[in-house]
Amino acid sequence: MTERMAGVRLAPYTTLGLGGEARAFVAAGSAEEIVELVAEADRVGEPVLVLGGGSNLVVSDEGFDGLVVRVASQGVEIDGGRVTAQAGEDWDSLVERVVAEGRSGVECLSGIPGLVGSTPIQNVGAYGQDVSQTITAVRVYDRRSGEVRDLIARECGFAYRHSAFKEELGRHVVLAVTYELAADDALSGPIAYRELALRLGVALGDRVPLARARAAVLELRAGKGMVLDAADPDTRSAGSFFTNPILTGGQAAELELRAPGFPRWDMPDGTVKVPAAWLIENAGFPKGYRRGPARISTKHTLAMTNPEMSASTEELLDLAREVRDGVFEKFGVTLVNEPVMVGTRL
Ligand SMILES: Cc1cc2nc3c(=O)[nH]c(=O)nc-3n(C[C@H](O)[C@H](O)[C@H](O)COP(=O)(O)OP(=O)(O)OC[C@H]3O[C@@H](n4cnc5c(N)ncnc54)[C@H](O)[C@@H]3O)c2cc1C
Repeated sequence: MTERMAGVRLAPYTTLGLGGEARAFVAAGSAEEIVELVAEADRVGEPVLVLGGGSNLVVSDEGFDGLVVRVASQGVEIDGGRVTAQAGEDWDSLVERVVAEGRSGVECLSGIPGLVGSTPIQNVGAYGQDVSQTITAVRVYDRRSGEVRDLIARECGFAYRHSAFKEELGRHVVLAVTYELAADDALSGPIAYRELALRLGVALGDRVPLARARAAVLELRAGKGMVLDAADPDTRSAGSFFTNPILTGGQAAELELRAPGFPRWDMPDGTVKVPAAWLIENAGFPKGYRRGPARISTKHTLAMTNPEMSASTEELLDLAREVRDGVFEKFGVTLVNEPVMVGTRL
């Protein structure tokens, strides 16, 4: 079993570079080790934080008064289109591999930071794909029952940037994920996102060679500071800080009064999704807007960044609060944070 360390600063383990010390910290190299560590902590009543790549986390300046279990389990099994990866595998390395081997279904999720085990938590998505389209099973340790279980996709409650795991955050520890990919013709799935279709010079619904789809997604993402790059201060973020609000018909009608012709995606269930980036920019927060050491990315309005790695968590959150409150004042819409808050809140 890996060594348990005391007083480890969490900032270097998060892409925002924020967060105080963990009372105890241990890296778990296998599913068995993860289960053992979490079960023992639960037995003695020690709080647990399961840590992946730290790319969707805002950890408080006070850190975490409990045990941080860093997921480091490795292993990928491939059988035709069925790909099962251990939770500690790097997500983009897995995407790179399956694309190179001609399997489609996750190519538009290229360049998303973090580990495999976190992908079901918020149903990771981008450019018209999300993992709910390909996940068939998630192996979890259920801390409530103390059992290891295989959940089928239907039990995962996937929705836009959401899942049953996020609903009851902390209850399930993901040990492995199975994706069912198409392994027939090395072409991407139908391109479902306008900006990506434009970049590829194809029509919506067309399919392109997998490697082309991956390259185009990586280019688009890099242009927005959405691929981790030590040389690019705009990538010192947690990705999109706010989800796109989903309004009821009534709420959308109210917004129409305040902002006639606002951009919208009409959803099949009658709700209306609004781009959070548009709300933020039109509430007076342009790209590059600064509050002390924290800054809105100069490339993407939705990313709150710690560009010089000099901000505290509270300073970053003060910027996010100013943005949230400004949007509410102007449009009456409440923005909700996408990253998980540890020991703090927006
Ligand atoms: C530059 C950048 C771009 C991004 N772009 C996107 C994007 O396009 N689309 C998108 O959806 N997301 C995006 N993100 C957000 C983030 O990359 C994803 O949410 C990713 O899945 C988080 O993985 P992680 O391993 O870093 O999770 P962490 O940040 O370590 O953890 C996130 C949450 O999941 C929990 N968790 C982690 N591992 C497990 C496990 N094995 N079992 C149970 N719980 C676990 C943690 O406790 C925490 O609550 C981006 C982030 C950055 C920094």
